[in-house]
Amino acid sequence: MTKNLNIDPINTWIKNSSDPLIISGPCSAETYDQLHETCKQLKSNGINLMRAGVWKPRTRPGTFEGNGEEALKWISDIKKELNVQFTVEVANTTHIDLALKYGIDILWIGARTTVNPFSVQEIADAIKGTDTPVLIKNPINPDLSLWMGALERVNKVGINKIGAIHRGFSITGNSKYRYAPMWKIAIDLKSNIPNLPVICDPSHICGNRDMIFETSQKALDLGYDGLIIESHIDPDNAWSDAKQQVTPASLLKIKNDLKVKNTKEKDRSYKHLLEEIRENIDDVDKEIIDIIAKRISLVEKIGEFKKEQDLTTLQVDRWNKIFKSRIKWALDKNLDKDFIEDLYKVIHLGSINVQNKIINKKKANFKI
Ligand code: PEP
Ligand code: MN
Repeated sequence: MTKNLNIDPINTWIKNSSDPLIISGPCSAETYDQLHETCKQLKSNGINLMRAGVWKPRTRPGTFEGNGEEALKWISDIKKELNVQFTVEVANTTHIDLALKYGIDILWIGARTTVNPFSVQEIADAIKGTDTPVLIKNPINPDLSLWMGALERVNKVGINKIGAIHRGFSITGNSKYRYAPMWKIAIDLKSNIPNLPVICDPSHICGNRDMIFETSQKALDLGYDGLIIESHIDPDNAWSDAKQQVTPASLLKIKNDLKVKNTKEKDRSYKHLLEEIRENIDDVDKEIIDIIAKRISLVEKIGEFKKEQDLTTLQVDRWNKIFKSRIKWALDKNLDKDFIEDLYKVIHLGSINVQNKIINKKKANFKI
């Protein structure tokens, strides 16, 4: 369902953005010298919007939890000296009062706060009437509604300068990422709120510096509005998130190597070609729907048969055979294994659904 929130275009509240827009700076403001030197190098590399954690939401107590108000004083001085904008994370009303007192330009709500509607509402009420821009990270858990809810709560109090940060999700199981990106959730967010600026945080998604470039490029290919990348003058010795921070020099290389794609089809000559390919895709999709309808009528037939013979809908041996053979056929066609596995899990679930309905004498109602 498309929802148009009242949102000011991002270029009206982020000044002198680099192309692509990159927000950078350390995970945490550790010392004045560390913050100052990082920002100075970033500024000379064309970055004009800095990030720094002032209060750190650490999973376990007893680790470095941020320098608080002291760090805000450093930021205020650095902002004046370098003529840059700054964004920091806030999690409660005290943080907001202090951040605004020291002239922080943009606030961000962290992943551990977005999960809690009470906290988000408290923050929204505290920002009301200030016209301060707010970026909202996705919640730790993969829940699109919570993310949308947080954006709506902040927007509802009259904050029109809002954007989302996609920093990945905590899931169980092995992944090459620190926080699984689950790109579909961010794509769904953008489809639901088309005028919402969405920024990718490859640092927290990857959890290591080696994958930052490829993840940033992927985000730009998907049409993201910008990136937030952690940087530090001495990443290995950072007091938090050491593995994922890059030096300002590496950040410059990433920035220079990234390719920004067009989100709109501007050039008429290729627009024609695009339309032709899209028409072909439409035709193929019609064929896919016809074939799914054909498969379902066969599934219905087998459902009737199983009902007569008192057989269970799930026949594990048959399903294992289907799964193996389809993946083999797909690999022969050079298709992606994970994609076909996911697709067949959905098809199989749909087919069980249809058969169960037949067995329970209800009208089949197949939805994917
Ligand atoms: C951060 O940006 O340093 C941070 C704590 O982020 P997140 O809320 O995404 O964990
Ligand atoms: Mn961090």
